[in-house]
Amino acid sequence: MSDLTVDVRGVHKSFGPLQVLRGVDLQVRTGEVAALLGPSGSGKSTLLRVVNHLERADRGWVTIDGELIGYRRSGTRLHELAEKEILRQRAKVGFVFQNFNLFPHLTVLENLMEAPLAAGRARRAELLTQAHALLARVGLADKAHTYPRRLSGGQQQRVAIARALVLKPKVLLFDEPTSALDPELVDEVLDVIEDLARAGTTMIVVTHEIEFARRVADTVVFMHDGVIVEQGPPSAVLDDPRHPRARAFLSKVL
Ligand code: ADP
Ligand code: MG
Repeated sequence: MSDLTVDVRGVHKSFGPLQVLRGVDLQVRTGEVAALLGPSGSGKSTLLRVVNHLERADRGWVTIDGELIGYRRSGTRLHELAEKEILRQRAKVGFVFQNFNLFPHLTVLENLMEAPLAAGRARRAELLTQAHALLARVGLADKAHTYPRRLSGGQQQRVAIARALVLKPKVLLFDEPTSALDPELVDEVLDVIEDLARAGTTMIVVTHEIEFARRVADTVVFMHDGVIVEQGPPSAVLDDPRHPRARAFLSKVL
């Protein structure tokens, strides 16, 4: 049995003439955290979206927990899965966006219950218990019946994290989870992500928070212009980057 949760191999993706991913390989082992760094436009969000099959790769493939994402192999050919199968696979991957993306017309608790109920994943009573436990875990036990607009950005993002966890994903993807927050609210969200890391949650976190990456990541991955130009332990990548682009980027943000 493999201990890889995420395996990305040779992924290419273009939008028209624009080559956004130009051969990306990324492996994340079970229980580990990869921090994905790189300048705006380098392809970080697109890579996360390919992992979740929100975007189709033009070439290459992704497996989660050994299961090919978005396709079924038959001989040497790949056939795209039916929408229903893709949705089933997507439940293996939790996604947390920069702008929270909560349902505004649902309470916090309803936001957590919506997807698992729609998927027929569990009985309502069981889900309720689980949803309350997750809200407690992100420090929002008292907000179950509140609407998102009544919450701060940091609280909304913690709800979004709880909502991503309710489907018991194999991996959590974060796309700049603190970039839309006022500075004083950043730490309450990073603390929740750090707690998840300590509990052994497998994660890919796109972030510009370098000190967070240093503290929490097992691997720091630096992307530039659609390729991973450097990856390794935080100390190696952050303190002694080899690639000139990584050096230039880090000298600006550190
Ligand atoms: P990052 O997250 O590193 O800032 P993105 O993956 O969002 O980078 O984008 C990489 C490049 O791909 C950018 O030039 C962006 O404009 C372009 N891009 C992303 N999504 C699309 C799309 N759906 N259609 C056309 N171009 C896109
Ligand atoms: Mg992005």
